[in-house]
Amino acid sequence: MGVQIPNVTAENKGERGNKYRFRIVGNAADFYTLSFRFSSLRTLSMTPDDQFTAPLFAGVDVGGTNVKVGLVDDRGKIVADTKFPTSPGESPDIAILQALEEFKALIEPSGFQWSDVAAAGLGTPGPMDIHRGVILTPTNLPGWHNFPVQGKLAEVLGKPVTYANDAGAAAFGEFWVGGGQQHSSMVMITLGTGVGGGIIIDDLSVDGANSHGAEIGHIVIDTRDDARICGCGQAGHLEAYASATALVERTREAMGNPDAGTVLRNLIGETSPLSALMVATAADEGDALAMKLVSETAVYLGRGIAQLAHLIDPAAFILGGAMNFGGADSPLGVKFLNEVKAEVRRLVFPVLGERLVLNFAKLGSEAGFVGAAGLARSQYNRTR
Ligand SMILES: [Zn+2]
Repeated sequence: MGVQIPNVTAENKGERGNKYRFRIVGNAADFYTLSFRFSSLRTLSMTPDDQFTAPLFAGVDVGGTNVKVGLVDDRGKIVADTKFPTSPGESPDIAILQALEEFKALIEPSGFQWSDVAAAGLGTPGPMDIHRGVILTPTNLPGWHNFPVQGKLAEVLGKPVTYANDAGAAAFGEFWVGGGQQHSSMVMITLGTGVGGGIIIDDLSVDGANSHGAEIGHIVIDTRDDARICGCGQAGHLEAYASATALVERTREAMGNPDAGTVLRNLIGETSPLSALMVATAADEGDALAMKLVSETAVYLGRGIAQLAHLIDPAAFILGGAMNFGGADSPLGVKFLNEVKAEVRRLVFPVLGERLVLNFAKLGSEAGFVGAAGLARSQYNRTR
């Protein structure tokens, strides 16, 4: 009896870090089921790094200032991208039509056809109703209120569209090809004007029943009567302590203290408004008060992360956003990260502290459209 060459079928159970089930069929009596755990899909790919892999996915990231659009290949590589001003007071129809024009301009020199684009992903600021595809009342987009943005984009692009919160889309970008790439689950916390976030578990973004599933900025870290008031109007939320806005407010209050450092005072001067970047610069130059304020920010953030660690126990936490104190390449950024870790470890079960992974994000402003495209890809792979 001759040896039969096995038929090997791979069943994609998700993305990196997940189980891939191989059914190997030899002769009729043999039936093996083997499970492997791959660190990355890339280990299976033979495509050279300078080539793109079809199908492509289109990502749209709507912000208050710009709409970023990009074409991303099947492995998360950016084929082409661009951006245009949002015109926040105008009807979103205009931006959606412009997105189509930009995509046409991007696809032409790429060597691909529009038919190579399998699906599109869209990220917008909230509040939103993800399940109905409607953007509700974002404060920085007054012309977009209560607009069925998902359906309209799908109609204009002629592609299925996956809809996500902008912070969730950015989180998915980091999960797919950024700081969370090696992990099967991830929580991203974005420190900027506010505190945003995304929770990704096995290729799925946790949006929640009411599209508020990852409002990390609004978890309660202070229940005292005199807790700080958040931008949302409620008291004691993480955003009221750890956002750039909160850092500026806390700094302003601390400047009344006679111990306030001279570096910070000199930086602020007479006219320039106080900013989180100024506090970071002063801390970098050794200003004691600025350093203290940065360390306190780390403690507040650590308290928030400790709650998330107990609730979700993700494989990694990723810190994104503009307020990164110089990030991984700066001594201040590294010090900040270590202080956050120390506070988390002080508050969580020992095993969670020992295995804590907390890193800075890697993608920068590309994360939103890359992640939107990635979410579209996940949905496409699940449904086809
Ligand atoms: Zn809040």
